[in-house]
This record gives sequence, structure tokens and C-alpha cells, in this order.
Amino acid sequence: MSQKKINTVTGEISVDKLGKTLMHEHFAFGYPGYNGDSIYSDQFEEALNNSISVAEKILKSGISSVVDATPNDCGRDPALLKKVSEATGLNIIASSGYYYQGEGAPAYFLTRNALGGNRDEDIYEIFKTEFTKGIGKTGIKPGVIKLATSKNIITEYEECFFKAAAKVSIEENISIITHTQEGTQGLEQADLLLSAGVDPVRVMIGHSCCNTDMDYLMSIAEKGVFIGLDRWGLQGGWGCPYDSRRIANLLGLIGVGYADKILISQDTVNFWWGRPVALGSVTDTWHPTHLVDNIVPILKKAGVSDSVLNQIFIDNPIRFFSGSR
Ligand SMILES: [Zn+2]
Repeated sequence: MSQKKINTVTGEISVDKLGKTLMHEHFAFGYPGYNGDSIYSDQFEEALNNSISVAEKILKSGISSVVDATPNDCGRDPALLKKVSEATGLNIIASSGYYYQGEGAPAYFLTRNALGGNRDEDIYEIFKTEFTKGIGKTGIKPGVIKLATSKNIITEYEECFFKAAAKVSIEENISIITHTQEGTQGLEQADLLLSAGVDPVRVMIGHSCCNTDMDYLMSIAEKGVFIGLDRWGLQGGWGCPYDSRRIANLLGLIGVGYADKILISQDTVNFWWGRPVALGSVTDTWHPTHLVDNIVPILKKAGVSDSVLNQIFIDNPIRFFSGSR
């Protein structure tokens, strides 16, 4: 048993209480700019009702904890997450972080230096304050840092967040999840964090399942960090492969001894802030119980034991959040 604690939106709990954990989902997400769309404002109640019914379905499937990976600039709402957790009993871990340059809100920080600020110090102060004092006046602390990079490049803007995150991870024992765009730059992300002194067991390179190259995936694992296979159900579009390819990758990784380096999730968005979206067939299987309902039975049939599944769903999240090997 570990004495280590993790911040959930309702307060600190022992990591041993996490149970089966989804490492990257979104109860509500909005692309920056949605909050200027006055025709679709005041959506809190609608988002709350939807999130509660989603959380109930997740709990019923046997999952007891979810990381909400919504970045600060994409509609992260700690008060919403807290109400959902209180209403349902689902453990929810909120994030602190910013999205990648192309789909985030870079103008605010890109102009800071010209407007008398210091971008690096500003970002560090935000991370540090959220983990030590809470988010705004809510008193709610995030439990994980979220970082993101662009397709085939880590921009100077994105690198600022990596530097600040590394410091706070080391000072406050906080773990880090990332967004890679279409499964690129995962190795470079790991190198940036590890060279700054971050403990590899505290790093998950996210959306790695968007890259089906086994050499890429194994090279990430060889750095000692976690491979985030966290976009199950998004199939054949949006830079994502079909689940059949993910299954082959996952079975291969388990087969060569990397079950202790795998974290999984679906990256679902369950409510979109702003205007309704039309998603198309890529998202037909994109829902938060898809892994448990549809993928786990296939893995079992392929010979994956309950103990390996528990390692991936339960033990690896505990090791990731507690920083223990
Ligand atoms: Zn996401």
C-alpha cells in the first residue's frame, strides 16, 4: 500500500483508492473563442446534467476514476467537475495546462513579453499557484499537468510550458500527461522533460496510439516513461488509426514486456462548449465506456489475463501518480 496522495476535485485521496482509471477524457471541452459566442452562453446546467449522466455510465462500467485532461484555455471548469464528482462519487482529477499552439489560445502569452511581462515566469506562477493554492477562488487543486505540442514540431511557445511544468513537477511531485498531435514528437517531449530532471515514471506521452509504428512506441517505453494509448474509439480519421491497429500494437507491447508502461483512455469529449458539432463516422465508437465494453473482451479473447488488465487499468495509474517504480 502506498501512502501517496493525489488531488481530486473533491480533495486529496490516497492513490490506492483510485481503482480502474481512465487517463484522458473530457467532460466538457471548447475550442478557444467559444466563450465569445453569446448565442451559446450559459451552458453550465446543460453541461452539468450531461456530465452527471456520463459519470454514472462510467461508474457502472467499473471505472472509478477519470482524469479530465481539459486545458485551462479550452473551457476547463473545476466547479463543474466538482459538482459531477459530488453527485456521483466518481473520482475526477483536473488538469493544469495549455493546449498546443494551433488549437489553443497562444495570443495571451505570446504578447506577454511585449506587454511588460515575462512569459516563462508567468506560466510557472500559474502552474505553481494552482497546485499549491488551488484554481482561482475555487480552492480546487488540479492533480496533473497537461502539456501539448504540434504535428512534427514543438514550437517555442509550447516549450515554455514544458520548462515550467518540469520545475513544478519536481518541486511539487506532480505527474505530467501530454498531447502529441497525430502521434508525433513523443520522443522529443520525453527528452525535454527528462533532460530537465523530471522523473520518467511521472510522464505519460499521450495519443501515442495515433502512431502505429512499433519502433516509435517501444522507443518511448525505453525512455522509462508511460505510453498513453488514449484515443480508443476514434477511428480512421482525425489523425487516428482504426482500433484493430491499436489492438495489434497493444498486444505487441504486452508481448515484449511493456505492460508496465501502458496507460489507456479514449479522449472523449462529452459536451462541447459553444455551438453543436457534427462529428461524422470517425466518432461512431467514441464514448467513455468503449474500452470496457468493446475492447477489453477482444483483449481477453486474445489471451490478455485479468492481472495484466488490472496492471494497465489500476496499478500503472497508481505508479504514475505516486511516482513509484
Ligand atoms: Zn484530449
